Amino acid sequence: MTQGHKLSRCAKGSNNRRKAKLAVAKIHARIADQRRDFIEQETIQIARESQAVYLEDLNVKGMASAKGKRGKSVHDQSLGMFARTLEAKCRRYGRGFVRVDRWFPSTQLCSNCGALTGPKGITQLGIRKWTCACGAVHDRDGNAEINLRHEGRRLLAAGPAER
Ligand SMILES: [Zn+2]
Repeated sequence: MTQGHKLSRCAKGSNNRRKAKLAVAKIHARIADQRRDFIEQETIQIARESQAVYLEDLNVKGMASAKGKRGKSVHDQSLGMFARTLEAKCRRYGRGFVRVDRWFPSTQLCSNCGALTGPKGITQLGIRKWTCACGAVHDRDGNAEINLRHEGRRLLAAGPAER
């Protein structure tokens, strides 16, 4: 047996290698468990504290791919899982749950006059403050939140057929 042969056999079948694999598998399982626990606790808290939840169905794929491939799957999965768990918890606690469509222009809409004068989605992500033609000065996120509340409330009142 050559030295090289011996080494490769040793590496493939060794206990150390198996242990290492198992260790990695255990770490992955623990991370997954922790993430599940975190999502579980967070969603229960949100459902308990809210009468209704309006979730903006963001274009996760588009956002993730803009940042590169790596973040995509974990980020994507976590957000999807978070949304599904949150919906289930809202049902369990008898809370309203509405997904607001990702095409709803929450950032563009002026919450004061209803005109589409705000920054456009991902391409204008850098614009945090803007002034509408009506004179209203908006904080990007604050304005979007007001719009989401209105839209969520409207959809919830309209009933399941509208959603
Ligand atoms: Zn306006």
